[in-house]
Amino acid sequence: MHQLPTTATRPSTQASERAVTGEVQVPTVHQQLDASHRTWCETPSCDTREDGNVEHAGTATTITIADAATVYGLPLQVTVQLCQDPDYSAPSLHLTSADGEGTALNADAVAQAAAQAEALAAELRRRHRQMTGTSVLTDAQRTLTLDEGLGSHRTTPIESTLRDISCDTDYPDDPWLSAEMVITDYRPQAHGRRTKIWLRTGAETAELTPQEARQAVAAAREFAPRLEALIALAEESSAGDFEGDPEIAAADREAEDRRIKAITEGRA
Ligand SMILES: [Zn+2]
Repeated sequence: MHQLPTTATRPSTQASERAVTGEVQVPTVHQQLDASHRTWCETPSCDTREDGNVEHAGTATTITIADAATVYGLPLQVTVQLCQDPDYSAPSLHLTSADGEGTALNADAVAQAAAQAEALAAELRRRHRQMTGTSVLTDAQRTLTLDEGLGSHRTTPIESTLRDISCDTDYPDDPWLSAEMVITDYRPQAHGRRTKIWLRTGAETAELTPQEARQAVAAAREFAPRLEALIALAEESSAGDFEGDPEIAAADREAEDRRIKAITEGRA
């Protein structure tokens, strides 16, 4: 089921009427589903069979793994396309290599493929850093220095390029996210040694064990696609956004003032 927000229509009611009723228009979200096709159909690609049933097909997207790479003279690439045969109750994802050979995956297999593709991307980035002898951290971000006031060793923080986006932040120039490694090792034979990641979001600091920090990264990764889906929905909705009419707003304020005055006088 795909849901699209309706485009909010500009209010046409008279200023005085709207001011009195105080009516607020809330954009509604409702279904707009063409019964004969799936929301992902690339309709010219769908085939109507002789029995009248439709074989649905979505957009075919080809991802080339590396432009220069070939296998037996063919590009190293995969093409993905959603398809649904009328004889099956669920769509499947067709995953095809350059030679046209492929396989059809159900939803569980697609979720697994996505997770494993992310693992492959992370592994490729790690190997790239090994090949080039580079690190995503600067020397300072890897080097511990003693903070005598704190009695701990700390690294220079890593920072998001985005600055603090909180409403009413007191520190708009501070990073939105930053993190550093802090090792507490004052007289370790007596007090022990503890390694933490200090993760800062705006003015808030979380002191995490490496394991907890890993959980935070996994949670952020899992949250991101849902946030992107929500943003896509907001982008569709924002097409219907508009500025209020200052005349109606002024009439609305006057009506509200009169109402409050009437209540106050009624009590006196
Ligand atoms: Zn279709």
